[in-house]
Amino acid sequence: MTFDHLESLRDDVDRQFKRSSRAISVTTKYWANRKLTEITPRLRSVTRENAYEDYLLDAVQAEAEKFRHYVEFQDADASRDEFLDSIHYDELRERPVCTCTGQHAHKCPVKLGKLPREVRVAEDIDDGLREFRANHNGRPLVLMDAQDQFAAKVADVERELRSLLSVLTSDEIPDDEEVPLPSQ
Ligand SMILES: [Zn+2]
Repeated sequence: MTFDHLESLRDDVDRQFKRSSRAISVTTKYWANRKLTEITPRLRSVTRENAYEDYLLDAVQAEAEKFRHYVEFQDADASRDEFLDSIHYDELRERPVCTCTGQHAHKCPVKLGKLPREVRVAEDIDDGLREFRANHNGRPLVLMDAQDQFAAKVADVERELRSLLSVLTSDEIPDDEEVPLPSQ
C-alpha cells in the first residue's frame, strides 16, 4: 500500500482552497476549514512514516497479549470479571491470533506478538504479508484483520478528502451535513 494518492489529494485540496477562496460562500469556507481540521490528524495518522507497520505491530502485540490472557483464564479459578480485574484488562481474545499448528507453531512470530520478518524487511508491507502467508502453515488472522482495518482507515480519509474537494469546487455542502455558523 502506498499513500502518494492521499498526499496528492491533500495538495489538490490546498490548491482548490486558494483558487476558490474568493468565489465560494463564507458558509462553504467555514465548513471546509472545519472539515480540513478534522481530517488532518487522521490523514497524518495513516501517512506518517511507518504508520502502517506500527499499526500492524500494535495490533499483533495487543491481540497476542489478549489471547495469552484468555489461555491463562482457562486455567484460572475465577469468573471472567474477576480475572479481568486481577490483570487490569478490559477484554480477552478467544480467537487465536494465528491458526498455525504443528511442531513449529510455538515459534510463530504472530503468536509471539511480533511482526514476521517478511513484513519487517519488505519494501511494500502488503507484499511482505503475502509472502509470509504463502510460506506459513496457518492463517495469521490478526494480521489479516489489521490489514483490512488499516485499508479502511485509508479509504475513509480518501473519501473525506474527495468530498472536501468537491465541496470546494461546487460551493455546495452535502445536504446531510449541518453547518452551524459560529454565532458572534
Ligand atoms: Zn502462525
